[in-house]
Amino acid sequence: MGKLQNQVAVITGGVSGIGAATARLFVAEGAKVVLVDLNEEKGKAFEAELKALNAEALFIKANVTVEEEVIQIYKQTIAAYGKVDIVFNNAGIGRVQPTHELEYSEWRNTVNVDLDGVFLVAREAIREMLKAGGGVIVNTASMYGWVGSPGSAAYNAAKGGVVNLTRSLALEYAERNIRINALCPGFIDTPIIPEDYKQSLAAATPMKRLGKAEEMAKAVLYLASDDSSFMTGSSLIVDGGYTAQ
Ligand code: NAD
Repeated sequence: MGKLQNQVAVITGGVSGIGAATARLFVAEGAKVVLVDLNEEKGKAFEAELKALNAEALFIKANVTVEEEVIQIYKQTIAAYGKVDIVFNNAGIGRVQPTHELEYSEWRNTVNVDLDGVFLVAREAIREMLKAGGGVIVNTASMYGWVGSPGSAAYNAAKGGVVNLTRSLALEYAERNIRINALCPGFIDTPIIPEDYKQSLAAATPMKRLGKAEEMAKAVLYLASDDSSFMTGSSLIVDGGYTAQ
């Protein structure tokens, strides 16, 4: 039997990179997955791909920064599968730009997706999990929630926010059977990293390579399953040694 047999998992940013790799691993472990993303074309194709493997999968097009759309994610999930056991709160955007050239609107947009979106998805998850008597949330932060770097002030501030949001929510709901932890990836080979950055980011990593989305998925499975049953409010840093430097 799989580690997530018959569990229902909502995965935001679920059709690309870390989210898609996690969806693949979750269905292999017996979960039904709800793939939430802005990208409808990729979403429909990925839903079909998982269904072809006999998995239960549902794509929902939604923007995690729009409150009503986030509420709808859970309404549709309950309508389709009757419950929500796991939420992988993972949608995010990133961009490197010197701060003195950063428009306020760009700052707002990054913080809106990477922090406000995480709050909205988590709050609605918590509302459902309180009704159901428990659940698990994994928020994607970043190693840049722990250390700084030049040129991505908005992203790093938002990810630092996700780390402490995770601690705060975990404490708030620890006695209500809702576990909440954060995944903090290092540089991972996904479409969020521009091709021409990949070599230098690999060189800056002690293990001298980028991480793989599949390696993140295994860490998410640990945080989402009973294997981490005594863990809440933590951040799991999976970064090839970067933050150990
Ligand atoms: P990705 O670009 O492959 O996946 C991100 C997905 O989020 C995309 O499918 C995108 O369409 C979706 N998305 C973006 N904005 C959205 C919104 N407003 N509503 C709904 N969906 C939205 O990148 P990834 O590397 O898989 O990123 C996943 C998460 O991991 C992000 O939160 C990212 O910040 C984080 N992360 C990535 C790295 C890395 O090096 N790849 C490192 C640390 C943290």
